[in-house]
Amino acid sequence: MPYIGRFAPSPTGPLHAGSLVAALASWLDARAHGGQWLVRIEDVDTPRCIPGADQGILQQLATCGLVPDAPVMWQSHRGEAYQAALDELIAKDWAYPCGCSRKDIEYAHALMGHTRERHQAAVYPGTCRDGLHGKTARAWRLNVQRVIDDLKLATPLVWHDRVVGIQQQDVAREVGDFVLRRADGLWAYQLAVVVDDAAHGITHVVRGADMTDNTARQIVLQHALGLPTRSYLHTPLVLGGNREKLSKQNGAEALELSNPLAALNSAVAHLNLPPKSGSISEALAQWVKLYEKSK
Ligand code: GLU
Repeated sequence: MPYIGRFAPSPTGPLHAGSLVAALASWLDARAHGGQWLVRIEDVDTPRCIPGADQGILQQLATCGLVPDAPVMWQSHRGEAYQAALDELIAKDWAYPCGCSRKDIEYAHALMGHTRERHQAAVYPGTCRDGLHGKTARAWRLNVQRVIDDLKLATPLVWHDRVVGIQQQDVAREVGDFVLRRADGLWAYQLAVVVDDAAHGITHVVRGADMTDNTARQIVLQHALGLPTRSYLHTPLVLGGNREKLSKQNGAEALELSNPLAALNSAVAHLNLPPKSGSISEALAQWVKLYEKSK
């Protein structure tokens, strides 16, 4: 079976110890399968992107011996492909314009007597599903239940993670009609990832466990766009001193790369591989062998 994997960093800051684990895991998995490893810069959320962070990340990867097998792709160049996908969903009557602000959504929930945990995203109450009710269109949403019904997809949606096994999510109830194009005109991560993974022929997605919760949504979108579902593996998260996951949002420090082998040795520990000495390329080659045996 052909294998094309990828690492898809958002250029919102430099790589940190957690993102190196995901990068290395995706690289090792590709090498162990004799596959290709691609890098895609996920710069659709332009207000969160930091100028120059993309080049910085590519440099950090190269310092760690992780060099993509094909030219790097930037999502900011892919607007036409995302528009074509949205047009296809609109033509099938699976996407609809939404005029709700965040306040409108909160208000609709309050009217229905729903309370919600702090920090938990509100499930869209479906206000604009049957029309804008005089409001101005702001965002585009996927009519999840209609896709599920029309395509006779199972509820809950069941998928397989290569590490943790069977996962399931009732996307219509737990997530709701998620956004495809945002009110500020930017493309939503979910649509961009699905369109790009298909366009680049990605067969295996290996990424951090913080992405696990997006997978069912992405599989629904793959079905809606007539695209194959990929193989998924989510790598363990790296926790900081405060036991919170390392992320750029909570101020994770940039990878310290004065000794790249030391950084790689810390990263492989999260993948249950032993530390190695020698040159970076020797260490990487040994990890590929060990990884092959363990898979
Ligand atoms: N761009 C996402 C991130 O940097 C990863 C998305 C993915 O791998 O699907 O966290």
